[in-house]
Amino acid sequence: MNFIEGTRDVSEGELQTNGITRYHVTKFYREQITNSIYYDQLKHIVEPSLEEFERTGNLDTSGEHDNTVAPGLQHKYAQTGLLLVTDRCASYCRYCFRKRIVGKNSDEIATDFSRIARYISGHPEITNVLLSGGDPFVLSTAKLDKILDHLLRIPHLDSIRFGTKAVAYQPKRFEDSALPALFQRIHEAGKTAIIVTHFDHIGEISADAERNISSLRAQGVQFLNQSVLLAKVNDDSEILAATFAKCHQMGVRPYYLFQGRPVKGASHFQVSLRRGIEIARGINQRLSGIQKTFKYIMSHYTGKIEILDLGGDGRVYMRYHQNKNPEKIGKIFSRPHLEGACWLDDLPEG
Ligand code: SF4
Repeated sequence: MNFIEGTRDVSEGELQTNGITRYHVTKFYREQITNSIYYDQLKHIVEPSLEEFERTGNLDTSGEHDNTVAPGLQHKYAQTGLLLVTDRCASYCRYCFRKRIVGKNSDEIATDFSRIARYISGHPEITNVLLSGGDPFVLSTAKLDKILDHLLRIPHLDSIRFGTKAVAYQPKRFEDSALPALFQRIHEAGKTAIIVTHFDHIGEISADAERNISSLRAQGVQFLNQSVLLAKVNDDSEILAATFAKCHQMGVRPYYLFQGRPVKGASHFQVSLRRGIEIARGINQRLSGIQKTFKYIMSHYTGKIEILDLGGDGRVYMRYHQNKNPEKIGKIFSRPHLEGACWLDDLPEG
């Protein structure tokens, strides 16, 4: 098998025992990155590394299992239902925090959408659903339509969100002639259609992606972008500022910059909190007021934590952006900084 470090013989058993994510890259994306001046950064997104055989980290860093209320449905934060609609992606990101699911035949995927709809109907506090996976846009539009049959009739849902990296990996998917009718259905049901793109680097934003985003925006689809801060890929304020400025110019609002999670087989992508805070500051220094719409977020077991600063007192300042307990949302808290810390659990209490 080809790794970034060179070719190695590895058995199927070794790959399975070590939970190495399936290798697949679309022809489109391979050409996009190979022809890019940023190839040396972008290759780490999809090309396997021997560092994936590391043993540290775990496979469910955000407590997804504990927040699963029906197969394929998570309800962690009051207003949001998260649906895992597939275990497949157009290409596989080597840093995926759902390594336990993607590219496999996972039993965590939603199959009984009637049951999911019953749960959401019984929880009027759920105002939006996020279709995730895997990547919902590997499913056919007909399959997505069937899922929507269950969701669009729920009156208290006001938005349907799709989390997808297919806009980077396979932008032509969004030229499907059946898609405008799908988004039209969402609008006619009185709900907002939102696509959350996943551009980590300006080199991933192709002309095809830009053209299709423009066409979908004209159909009333709103766009947000989330990125992951990744060592060797985008741990550079220049690159991320350029990525967010480009998103802003396309009408895609930068939304979350995620701190890399301590995922088994992907911890080598983590950037220290000290460096991450410097990078977030550098991004903000390069963007105009209307462009700096992102939050630097650690999606922790306890909630989504906005990472604010490393104070002169040697403490990391943070604030809960989302928490199961609404009392905690918005409250600033701090922990003593430890050099090299990458995650809340690396910081001592006190
Ligand atoms: S596209 Fe999303 S779900 Fe799929 S491998 Fe990449 S990060 Fe994971």
